Amino acid sequence: MHDYKEAKPEAAPMNILHDPHLDGHLPDVDRPRLIEALRNHCSGMRLLTEAEELAPYECDGLSAYRTPPLLVALPEHVEQVKALLRVCHRQGVPVVARGAGTGLSGGALPLAQGVLLVMARLNRILELDPAACRARVQPGVRNAAISQAAAAYGLYYAPDPSSQIACSIGGNVAENAGGVHCLKYGLTVHNITQVKLLTMAGDELTFGSEALDAPGLDLLALFTGSEGLLGVVTEVTVRLLPRPPLARVLLASFETVEHAAEAVGAIIAAGIVPAGLEMMDNLAIRAAEDFIQAGYPVDAQAILLCELDGVASDVEEDCALVSQLLRDAGAQAVRQARDEAERLKFWAGRKNAFPAVGRLAPDYYCMDGTIPRRALAQVLRGIAQLAQAHGLRVANVFHAGDGNMHPLILFDADQPGELHRAEALGGKILELCVAVGGSITGEHGVGREKINQMCAQFNTAEIALMHRVKAAFDPEGLLNPGKNVPTLQRCAEFGAQHVHHGQLPFADLERF
Ligand SMILES: Cc1cc2nc3c(=O)[nH]c(=O)nc-3n(C[C@H](O)[C@H](O)[C@H](O)COP(=O)(O)OP(=O)(O)OC[C@H]3O[C@@H](n4cnc5c(N)ncnc54)[C@H](O)[C@@H]3O)c2cc1C
Repeated sequence: MHDYKEAKPEAAPMNILHDPHLDGHLPDVDRPRLIEALRNHCSGMRLLTEAEELAPYECDGLSAYRTPPLLVALPEHVEQVKALLRVCHRQGVPVVARGAGTGLSGGALPLAQGVLLVMARLNRILELDPAACRARVQPGVRNAAISQAAAAYGLYYAPDPSSQIACSIGGNVAENAGGVHCLKYGLTVHNITQVKLLTMAGDELTFGSEALDAPGLDLLALFTGSEGLLGVVTEVTVRLLPRPPLARVLLASFETVEHAAEAVGAIIAAGIVPAGLEMMDNLAIRAAEDFIQAGYPVDAQAILLCELDGVASDVEEDCALVSQLLRDAGAQAVRQARDEAERLKFWAGRKNAFPAVGRLAPDYYCMDGTIPRRALAQVLRGIAQLAQAHGLRVANVFHAGDGNMHPLILFDADQPGELHRAEALGGKILELCVAVGGSITGEHGVGREKINQMCAQFNTAEIALMHRVKAAFDPEGLLNPGKNVPTLQRCAEFGAQHVHHGQLPFADLERF
């Protein structure tokens, strides 16, 4: 069953975009009546209604899937958002929240019968309190803008998705976004203390507190990563950290990805927690070097970027130890960035790797699975074999320290069947991640893209429980329907078969 050498591409479409169960339940919307009510109740709110105005909002970062929304709303005030939700709730109209639209799993993919609620214009930093190391921000504030504002106080916001110059904090909360530095500093959920939100009925809720803990059930954790299914984020309180006095980055090159993977395990086993530990394979190295000229060794089969930060004496000591560990694991060369400019250059190559790989083919499909670190080498081998079986190229660039893989599947949507082959390959890769005890997403969310693989990750009882949680927040099922949690019927008809965590014994992987 798990002999991926024999894997055959799926012949049938995976049906990600259409869901007969959902489509059948979506209401027919009286568009003129809705527009009139929104104009009456959401005073001063910009509403886009013409086809050419709606076109830019047809997709998020997962551009292979497109649906024009019924309408696009661009509120600038929380009161407008509340009024919009109340109107849509009364009229039974679905609402999809959107931040900057950089999501890579189709979370903000619009519905033809739904309003797309764009939160990007609520983009004010409401308060920055350096003494408390906190900032209160509106959901449309860009991730990077928080650190820019905090820099004057020697502070920054740690989660740093590679999309940070564009993506919004509301989108980060909804996706529980991660980034290069989350290995040491945690994901979004570890770096926020309070979220204010509106339910579909327009009720205001506050989860968490200004402090590190809050009484009662941890609804903040439940809400973080809920992909716009439970409520619309209207305000976020983030933790700010003091900028480490020193950061150094090491670049190590390897003849094989296996050696690079071994080095990752060795560093963590030595008790060192790097600020970032990232891996790129040869295809990704070449693409990034061609695009950014970061100074990467283009003949290496894999590189590791390892950042160490803290006070100078600790950093120097850790750099010496990690360099030795990298060499012991078989690194051909280990280079420390000479200065801050070179450190930023090394990271620029990594942070621009997605668009760089995007130049190699008309389309790419970015997967996001997480595996136990010890399975890195075997899973990379498995991915290569699956790619070959599906006749597609895959570049790997990922958060190796977290075991968070990002296989980038290259394809051409204009070639008949290639999109479906890419979907099928992506699905198999995610199922492989689950089989070795991992998960189908590390940071990009489920959205529409991984809806079938949710059925591999969770059993029927677990999915049924998620539906009950959703119903507790949104009984009519109007907020972002059809994303994140599959219907049980969908699992029965389209979904991948439920895989027990760690079902694939380690010895079996050696067959790859
Ligand atoms: C080049 C590139 C690199 C990337 N690198 C990373 C990375 O390193 N780490 C990472 O985690 N992600 C990464 N991403 C993915 C993406 O940037 C993140 O998922 C980000 O958090 C999405 O934010 P957004 O504002 O664009 O949200 P959108 O794409 O607009 O929406 C994403 C989800 O959030 C919901 N949502 C948005 N705003 C709200 C709100 N106010 N209230 C409720 N729900 C809301 C939407 O309904 C949707 O389900 C990358 C994307 C790109 C294109």
